[in-house]
Amino acid sequence: MKEQVPMGAERSPVARVEALVVSVPAEGNAFAEGSEETLLVRVTDEAGNYGIGESVCTPEVIKAMIDQETIHFWSQGITDIVVGTDPLEARATYDRVYHGSFYHGRRGTLIQALSAVDIALHDLAGKQLGVPVYKLLGGARTERIRPYATLYPGDIYDGPIEPILTETRRQAEIAVDQGLRAVKVPVLFGAENDPGGVPDKTIVGFIEKCRELLDEITPDLVLAADFGYRWWDWQAAAWTLKRLEDYDVYFAEAPLRHDDLDGHARLAAVSPVRVGGAEFAAGRWEVREWLERGGVSLIQPGISRAGGFTELMRIAEMCEMYGAQLMPHSFATGITDVANFHLQAASLTVPMVEFRSSRLGPSRLRTELVSPPEPEIVDGYARLPTGAGLGIELNEDLVAAHTRLGY
Ligand code: MG
Repeated sequence: MKEQVPMGAERSPVARVEALVVSVPAEGNAFAEGSEETLLVRVTDEAGNYGIGESVCTPEVIKAMIDQETIHFWSQGITDIVVGTDPLEARATYDRVYHGSFYHGRRGTLIQALSAVDIALHDLAGKQLGVPVYKLLGGARTERIRPYATLYPGDIYDGPIEPILTETRRQAEIAVDQGLRAVKVPVLFGAENDPGGVPDKTIVGFIEKCRELLDEITPDLVLAADFGYRWWDWQAAAWTLKRLEDYDVYFAEAPLRHDDLDGHARLAAVSPVRVGGAEFAAGRWEVREWLERGGVSLIQPGISRAGGFTELMRIAEMCEMYGAQLMPHSFATGITDVANFHLQAASLTVPMVEFRSSRLGPSRLRTELVSPPEPEIVDGYARLPTGAGLGIELNEDLVAAHTRLGY
């Protein structure tokens, strides 16, 4: 009993769910990112229309999760639950999958898999109705979408700082040329050999020089810093963050170990720089722990692994109650990028979304998997997507040529 209401001529229930491991050769500075592989989900209705989503996780693990057959009431297969449903009821479907997968899910991988399915259901529902996804989410609170560029100078972090600064400047100039007006710099140098805890002004000097070089490129560039889980003790992080006060650092991402929520709370209480985290969190329950116990005012769960539109909208609304910002992680293909645009449009608490430019991280998955491949950005802002659903088209030839594992 999945469908009781007549759906109209243009609409029909889900007939098929496919989990596709799409893999292309690596290019450039591949690093912990979805530039080589992604788990693509395609949800097709009875009329042959389809929606797409992706999961930014280990693709083969996610595929196994989606393809799993139903064993019993608490261990149902995602596909078994989703086939036959109305795509417009994606939120109810999300909850059915969550509750039907307690044996193998609840958090982590199940929600990462469900993220792709939920995005695809929203894309399909939008296409069936001929409306953009942000309208399905309640409508646009803003028409000014603000992506920020994550820079990544490459695997040169064990060497001296000067080459890192040179490459940071080069990439920042590319980002500005692309229209972006906000950048995030990784602060990863020497971390592997740093025992941590001992006061070290190297990081402070690096950020000072980053601010200087950005100001030379164009005034008022937004600067954020990603510390890549650098410190295990919050006081060492606090010593550094307090010395960054003069450099207009918007936020400090991942200063502490991901699961050290008490440390985050202590750090956030004394840091003059906004402390962010939760980029690997999955689901609203985990994110609530970050807001309650972790005490941060910026959370960064990604739409392609923290629960798709359904859960990210719940998280965005929860942020309003905590006075916190949601700035979703994105290091993937154009599917995640445009999904974030719809999310920002429909939310009050999303000031920027992460954006990994293909000009900074070349990848066929970024430039060819969907069209248009990248948004036009002018003076820091992109426009609302206007097409039905996500507003992008899948490159079926690329998928057919680069899909592994049984399809
Ligand atoms: Mg990150």
